[in-house]
Amino acid sequence: MKKFVILLAFLIWIASLTGCGNRPPESQSATIFAMDTVMTITVYGEEAQEALRQATAEINRLETLFSVTRTESDLARINAADGKAVLVSPETAEVLTLAIALWEETDGTFSPGLYALQRAWGFTVGEYRVPEDAEIADLLAQVDVAEIRIDGLTVTAPPGMELDFGAIAKGYAADRLVLILRNLEIESAIISLGGDILALGERPGGAPWRVAVNDPFGHGSLGIIEVRDRAVNTSGNYERRFMSEEGETIHHILDPETGRPARSGLVSVTTVTADGARGDALATALFVMGLPDALAFVDRTPDLEAVFVTDDGRIYATRGLENMFVPEDAGRVSWS
Ligand code: ADP
Ligand code: MG
Repeated sequence: MKKFVILLAFLIWIASLTGCGNRPPESQSATIFAMDTVMTITVYGEEAQEALRQATAEINRLETLFSVTRTESDLARINAADGKAVLVSPETAEVLTLAIALWEETDGTFSPGLYALQRAWGFTVGEYRVPEDAEIADLLAQVDVAEIRIDGLTVTAPPGMELDFGAIAKGYAADRLVLILRNLEIESAIISLGGDILALGERPGGAPWRVAVNDPFGHGSLGIIEVRDRAVNTSGNYERRFMSEEGETIHHILDPETGRPARSGLVSVTTVTADGARGDALATALFVMGLPDALAFVDRTPDLEAVFVTDDGRIYATRGLENMFVPEDAGRVSWS
């Protein structure tokens, strides 16, 4: 039962008054630690306080379903089932269905089935190691996303393959929060779940939300993306990366084809989409693809724009962002 006590979550309620008109719009913010990251939600409107209460409860509920480390979670039970059928919640079935569709759409560069490999590299406990080639090959041979069966709320995954929603859960959580906020008739909010941001509506007063893109090489931002009703998701390998003794860069985004940390020449990918779950997963997929394939993917995919940073410090932005992306240093940016 202790597991249900929200040990990791702490709440800071900040009631802030902004503006100085007749009826200044009031905002409420909550900061939550969940899904291994610091989350901040800022909501405008009369029901802001109630919205934050429901949002916090929802994030904690989703974490208990998707956490790979809590033994009673849906994913942990699938991963321990050794090929047997497992009854899951509707949300888990929904995310898994979406994840499999994204795996197909991205030609396997997004893969929800890599958890055993992540463990082999030590990402799950934060103690990095370089597995033997044979160990990687053995584990990869057991990953077969096409063999996952979803029948209503029953999930069957091939033995040996383990699931992980690390590249989609936060984006999905943001989508769920938007549903909660809309239900309470909130029209303006900014949801920031680590590198996964969702801007609801626009800022009070009619200006777009301004989302900063982190500079992987510095401490500031490399620019601002101005958005209304959009998800802005960043996937990068610059936060926790190590060099192995063999000179291999070790970081937490794996190339599903090699079972090794993706070496695509990119250090960061930011997507702009309408949908948080999709944007989250696609940021990871584009990172694995590398710049040429990623640009082609964005080009043929409706409602997807992106900003890329390469390991030599160049910034590439797609044309659809011309009126939204305001770079700090326009000279570093190529438009594609
Ligand atoms: P972050 O978690 O830092 O926001 P991402 O959204 O890119 O970054 O997600 C990375 C996480 O996704 C990893 O920690 C791991 O759990 C999982 N993951 C790693 N490689 C892949 C991949 N190729 N496809 C899907 N998930 C992945
Ligand atoms: Mg992602």
